[in-house]
Amino acid sequence: MRALVARGPGLPLRVEQVRLPPPGPGELRVRVRAAGVCHSDLSMVNGTLAPAYPLVLGHEAAGVVVEAGAGARVPVGTQVVLNWAPACRACWFCRHDEPWLCAANTAPAQPRGETADGTPLHVTLGLGAFAEEVVVSEAAVVPVPVDLPPERAALLGCAVLTGTGAVRNTARVAAGQSVAVIGLGGVGLSVLTAARAAGATPIVAIDVAEAKRDLALAAGASDFLLPDDLLSKRVRALTEGRGVDHAFECVGRAATIHTAWRLTRRGGAVTVVGMGGRDDPLSLAAADIFHSARTLRSSVYGSSDPDREVPALARQVGDGTLDLAPLISGLVPLDEAPTAFDRLARGEGARWVVTFPD
Ligand SMILES: [Zn+2]
Ligand SMILES: [Zn+2]
Repeated sequence: MRALVARGPGLPLRVEQVRLPPPGPGELRVRVRAAGVCHSDLSMVNGTLAPAYPLVLGHEAAGVVVEAGAGARVPVGTQVVLNWAPACRACWFCRHDEPWLCAANTAPAQPRGETADGTPLHVTLGLGAFAEEVVVSEAAVVPVPVDLPPERAALLGCAVLTGTGAVRNTARVAAGQSVAVIGLGGVGLSVLTAARAAGATPIVAIDVAEAKRDLALAAGASDFLLPDDLLSKRVRALTEGRGVDHAFECVGRAATIHTAWRLTRRGGAVTVVGMGGRDDPLSLAAADIFHSARTLRSSVYGSSDPDREVPALARQVGDGTLDLAPLISGLVPLDEAPTAFDRLARGEGARWVVTFPD
């Protein structure tokens, strides 16, 4: 079968023939119908992370179960959303209701299958979803209604779960609270959508690309600002001089975390949603930390339990209360996935979704 393979950091992405093992006990073979191009995939190839290669990219996807290994209970024909952080339900974190921190989920790349010439292959976050098929543990799928459009279902597996979870579970944004969101990729736009649904006001969207303005306003922002020297002043002007109750950093850089910190009011909260690199330290003055009384924390996978929350989000998409249309910039075939990565790297559009013919 065909898959999008990264051979090493900085090397061009290529669609290659690869082989996967048949599903073992408790595993499923899933025919992928749609897979979103997420910034974390870019982190797998631009040096931010150091996974093993060759590596099948992709971790935000939906597909249909086509074969079940021994003992697997999800029936063939079920549409599923892939979960890149399946909870073991046994470790300390899982037993303490924090399955997004499950101790069993650590490696960005896991060995699975081989390339056409027999080289051992790896898959991103246990999935490798830019591929015609994946073979995954049953714990790594969440069943959703079969009539949910696959390109929307796919986004529930990463951007939407992460963005809505950051707002609802991590920050617990309340109606009437003010919000700023820095970085308007798929996750940042999902944060805007969830903030609007929570009744936040104002909702200030911030991105270096002016082209994100219309996307931001469509997704739920009340205001769009470019991060110039006057950014703090402008945000304060929108919040009676205080700064926002909640700032969401959806970039994953110390500089933007620092910006989020400065935009937040005394006693407010900064939620870091972007996944940053190891060599990017953040510096805050001790006096500032004390005096500002702000909270700084991260939101891993939206502090969510995908087994519970993906079906809930799917219901909201189905009944129209969660509109994902503003998040999807376009659908592309697998052969055009490298182009979609280039667009993502340039900050063009929201989510590009790779779709596979039925
Ligand atoms: Zn992702
Ligand atoms: Zn666990």
